[in-house]
Amino acid sequence: MCTPGHGFNDDPGGVAAPAPDAGAPGPAADPKLIEDLVIANRILFREGVLDAFGHVSVRHDKDPNRFLCARNMAPGLVTADDIVEFGIDGEPVNARGRAVYLERFIHSEIYRARPDVMSVIHSHSMAVIPFGLVKSYPFRAVTHMGSFIGTCAPVFEIRDVVGEDNDLLISSPKLGAALAQCLGESTVVLMRGHGSTAVGNSLKQAVFRAVYTEQNARVLSEALRIGPVTALSEGETVTATRTIDGQSTRAWDLWRLRAEGKV
Ligand code: MN
Repeated sequence: MCTPGHGFNDDPGGVAAPAPDAGAPGPAADPKLIEDLVIANRILFREGVLDAFGHVSVRHDKDPNRFLCARNMAPGLVTADDIVEFGIDGEPVNARGRAVYLERFIHSEIYRARPDVMSVIHSHSMAVIPFGLVKSYPFRAVTHMGSFIGTCAPVFEIRDVVGEDNDLLISSPKLGAALAQCLGESTVVLMRGHGSTAVGNSLKQAVFRAVYTEQNARVLSEALRIGPVTALSEGETVTATRTIDGQSTRAWDLWRLRAEGKV
């Protein structure tokens, strides 16, 4: 079966459609948290995790049932004025007519399912995607910096939730909840034909994990071209993660300066 591609789109809304505000904003977030979220956007663009698409969010510091994320725009251009507050239902409270990300339910449903998660990053970074396509080969840690990935990252198959007639996007609370369930207690979930989503207990940890998820995927692909791969054992993933986990600030400080063009 072969069908031609489709170059038309008669849907005037599409991914940039504004969502009405649902509820009122709560207490203002710490300005430092908003500043760090802006920096995270810039870092993830500069390090090749996000391009014109993808998004990073952080749980609100005053209300665990809210989170902060940019309006619908390219992450590399985000400023503090672009940060919007969302409820745990994934709907904005102060977008004021500005378009928001269609896939915001990735964030809302993971925050709902995982109280330990303080930051969520959804990426289409290229090196990870093949491992969501080849389901017979597990995506796993092969470098110490990628040890947090563990020995088998879950792969989300959207067809299992809504069948073949889907656009691959996590555009509803139902799909977000299914993705969160697939993520389980893991640090990263692959999304077949789409990308991946990484989580952390802080913005800095999530950024660290998103960058090294992409790097681990590049290394693994290169190794597979050479020969059989010796991956980290389960014990090595646990021990290396424990050792390296405290290092995310060192990476953040460097990546921030690079994103700002200072190094
Ligand atoms: Mn996406």
